Amino acid sequence: MVHETPKVKVSDLTQYGICPRLVYFRAREPEHAELLISGNERIMIERILWKELAFNLHKIYGCEVADEVAEPEKAAKSVLDEIVDDVEHIYKKELDAVAESVLDDEKREFVCYIVEDEEWLSKARAENELLELQQMLGYDREHAMVSEKLRLNGSVDKLITTENELIPCMIKTGKSPEYGVWPNDRMQLAAYALLIEETFETTVQRGFVEYIRAAEFRESPIRRKDRARALQTLKHVRRIKSGAYPDKSVNAPCANCVFLDRCDTRITLLSKLLGKNV
Ligand code: SF4
Repeated sequence: MVHETPKVKVSDLTQYGICPRLVYFRAREPEHAELLISGNERIMIERILWKELAFNLHKIYGCEVADEVAEPEKAAKSVLDEIVDDVEHIYKKELDAVAESVLDDEKREFVCYIVEDEEWLSKARAENELLELQQMLGYDREHAMVSEKLRLNGSVDKLITTENELIPCMIKTGKSPEYGVWPNDRMQLAAYALLIEETFETTVQRGFVEYIRAAEFRESPIRRKDRARALQTLKHVRRIKSGAYPDKSVNAPCANCVFLDRCDTRITLLSKLLGKNV
C-alpha cells in the first residue's frame, strides 16, 4: 500500500515550534485547528483586534486626511472605529459565539487603549521602510500559496511586490524580542519564502515581522539556516501527521491549551505503559 506524504500547513510548523503535540492533536481534531489556546475569549478578541489594526496600519501611518495630521489621536480614533466595526464580519466564524456585550467592551477598551498610548502611536507613525512600502505599493492580504513539491501550503499575512522583489510579512500579536526576530518567526518566514519561490520562480531575500503590540517592525534576511530549519521541521510535522506521537516541548503552554484533557490522559497512559514520565 502506497502512503501519501501528508499535506502540511505553514501554521503546523509554527505550532510545532510551540509544542509538537499541538500538531498531533490538531491533525486529529480539525475542528480545533484554529483554536490554539482556549479558555479566554477576551484574549482571542484582543488578538483579532491587534491583527486587524496591523492590516490597517498604513492608514494611521499615512495620515490620509490632511486636517487629521494636526490631530493624530482623532485620526487614529476614526481608523480604529472603522476597524472595530468590521471585525465581526471579517472574523465571523471566530466571533460568532462571543456575546455582543463582551465584544463591545473589548472593542471600546481597545480603541481607548490605543488612542491614549502616545508612545505606540508615535512609533506607528515614525518613518520606517515597511510601512513606507505598504503605503506606496499596498500588499496582498493573506496571500495563499501551495507547493506541490514540498506538499506545503500557507497564507502569508501580507505579500508586498516591489519592482525587484517579493517580500513576505507576518503579523505577530505576542511579545517582541529586544532585537531582531524570534527564531520561530524566522523559520516561519523561511517557510513562506519557500512557497513564494516555487509559486513565482524567484528568490526571496528578506521578510518582515510586525510585532504589532509594540509597534516594532523588524526586517529579517532569509538565512540558509532558517530555510534548513523550516525543511527539518516540515519533516518532523509529516511524521507526526502520519501518526507518530511526539514529546511535548519544554515550554509547552499547557495551562491554556484546548487539548489539555486529552494530552494529560495520554501522558498518564504512556507513563503507565512505559513506567516513566514521558
Ligand atoms: S497540553 Fe501541553 S503538551 Fe499537550 S498539546 Fe497542549 S501544550 Fe502541548
